Amino acid sequence: MPIQNPVFNLAKAHSSAHRRRLYFIYHRLSELDCAHSYTLTVEQFRAHVSVFSETRQLDCSFLSEVTFDDGHISNLNLALPILQAHHLTAKFFVTVGWIGRRAGYLGWQDLMALRDSGQKIGAHGWSHRFLNRCSDEDLGRELLESRRVLEDKLGIEVTSMACPGGRYDQRVLSACRAAGYRHVYTSIPRTEPFSECFLVGRVNVRSDMGTEQIRQLNSPGGKLLSRLRRQYFAKNIAKTLLTDRIYDRLWWMFAGNGAETEGDP
Ligand SMILES: [Zn+2]
Repeated sequence: MPIQNPVFNLAKAHSSAHRRRLYFIYHRLSELDCAHSYTLTVEQFRAHVSVFSETRQLDCSFLSEVTFDDGHISNLNLALPILQAHHLTAKFFVTVGWIGRRAGYLGWQDLMALRDSGQKIGAHGWSHRFLNRCSDEDLGRELLESRRVLEDKLGIEVTSMACPGGRYDQRVLSACRAAGYRHVYTSIPRTEPFSECFLVGRVNVRSDMGTEQIRQLNSPGGKLLSRLRRQYFAKNIAKTLLTDRIYDRLWWMFAGNGAETEGDP
């Protein structure tokens, strides 16, 4: 076991504190190739994590952070060993109403294993309904009930949540604050300051995103992140003009996604 140098570690921690972070959203992994836009193979994820591990050592790069949405079983079985091999801690946002009830998703024992391995856990609503479409009453269940159940069952403080489908508005954000969340994760592709803000942007990782793109995204001044941001705002305009429901139907049709997918259109 290498001897840790406290002076070096302190200096490294100090230099990290000035770096901006870039959060990435993953959904699920598969051992085999899969047509779903948000399912990466284990080898693709391993390659991405190697880039994160490498660029985290470089002061000239953003500090990349890994997050997972939905709570798919592959987060534990396939992603955790890779994260652990690189000493990385990720944040897992789970859809609380699916825990132990939906085939292919994490159960409570699985979440306890993630918790015990030092990974972070946050909420992703109760039923994965888009929060901007919920009534005030339904928002209570989606936000407050999901936090309370996670905290009771896992004995941890839950202060972060990720909006299903990346959908939110000012009413949703006020409800998040009222439900006790200090950080709300979105899918706005942008970097963040070192200290976690209330609204946190993230890059949604698709299965066609290679390591070269991951490297570009991690480089300050790279054009890819601004391009993804422009696409994000263009999609938001399309959602407003077409209404969310019609937009979603078109997205699933043209992106070749099945009805069981939970990605972020
Ligand atoms: Zn989701």
